[in-house]
Amino acid sequence: MKAIVLEQAEGKTLASVKQTALPAAGPDEVLVDVDWSGLNYKDALAITGKGKIIRNFPMVPGIDFAGVVNHSNDERFSAGQQVVLTGWGVGENHWGGLAEQAQVKGDWLVPLPAGLTARKAMIIGTAGLTAMLCVMALEEAGVTPESGEVVVTGASGGVGSTAVALLHALGYQVAAVTGRESTHDYLQKLGAARIVPRSDFAQTRPLEKQLWAGAVDTVGGAVLAKVLAQINYSGCVAACGLAGGFELPTTVMPFILRNVRLQGVDSVSAPLARRTAAWQRLAEVLPESFYADAATEISLEEAPAVAGAFLNNAIQGRTLVKIR
Ligand code: NDP
Repeated sequence: MKAIVLEQAEGKTLASVKQTALPAAGPDEVLVDVDWSGLNYKDALAITGKGKIIRNFPMVPGIDFAGVVNHSNDERFSAGQQVVLTGWGVGENHWGGLAEQAQVKGDWLVPLPAGLTARKAMIIGTAGLTAMLCVMALEEAGVTPESGEVVVTGASGGVGSTAVALLHALGYQVAAVTGRESTHDYLQKLGAARIVPRSDFAQTRPLEKQLWAGAVDTVGGAVLAKVLAQINYSGCVAACGLAGGFELPTTVMPFILRNVRLQGVDSVSAPLARRTAAWQRLAEVLPESFYADAATEISLEEAPAVAGAFLNNAIQGRTLVKIR
């Protein structure tokens, strides 16, 4: 099969597209012919070697894919069935989706939700699933469209774009935080009611004027600290990312004086029932326009170069990789 293969030489990660053979199948594994994959922030870290994502080489990257079952050793799946995979360490410590075939545990697969094609599922991808899990976290914390404005940070990225589109479709007033003027029109098209420059989020006091009923944070660092200081009494921040850094220079003040909730969100090991529910809601809530507005399609051969652009903040929305 054709795949992106990551190898190491003199401490550097080298990415090339080449023919390779999958390792022998495990007893409960399912062989999938991959139609579409995507590029996520974590893929960019893995492919460029700028993050310590991969420890064993050679490795095929790609933390998500959609395709058709070719052969199954798991009785829950059968040849011809359409499936989606995100997370579970695939593309990190198990050969991933940036390849013509992938072999994974049945437990990791989700049948393609009704209402989605494989292509649409990968426009959503890990980023979009994470955005939905963040929206669900806000809903569970009692944040409703009537509660007030909701802010999304890293708004032009994959998670951010999907969060803006989902929240808008669900009736929320969305403020989008971005560091790029070039993406303002795009964010308004997705449904942002207003745009706040990232530069406003550089400095913070322990508590600031209350502005937001809720937040989806994909950035971490100083931006998340400022968001926490501006959350309304009893509001919630769903934090899933570290595009701006993994540190959190904050104080306990928002928590102990404003009853603020900081809810972590992980998609990699989210239980099957929760991810199935999230996929179903994504299929129902995202408007048709999202798929045209948010997706850029590339080939497998282009993926290594585009991974570099990711870490230079030069990518907008979701990057879809056509495999077959
Ligand atoms: P993208 O690269 O598509 O988006 C990240 C966005 O963050 C950029 O578009 C940019 O938005 C903003 N950004 C980039 N650099 C900085 C910076 N230095 N300071 C502040 N903001 C910055 O990545 P994804 O959307 O795929 O992922 C976003 C984050 O979420 C990543 O950290 C990723 O690891 C994490 N993630 C976590 C998951 C989980 O399960 N918890 C799953 C998926 C992703 P703009 O230009 O608009 O400012």
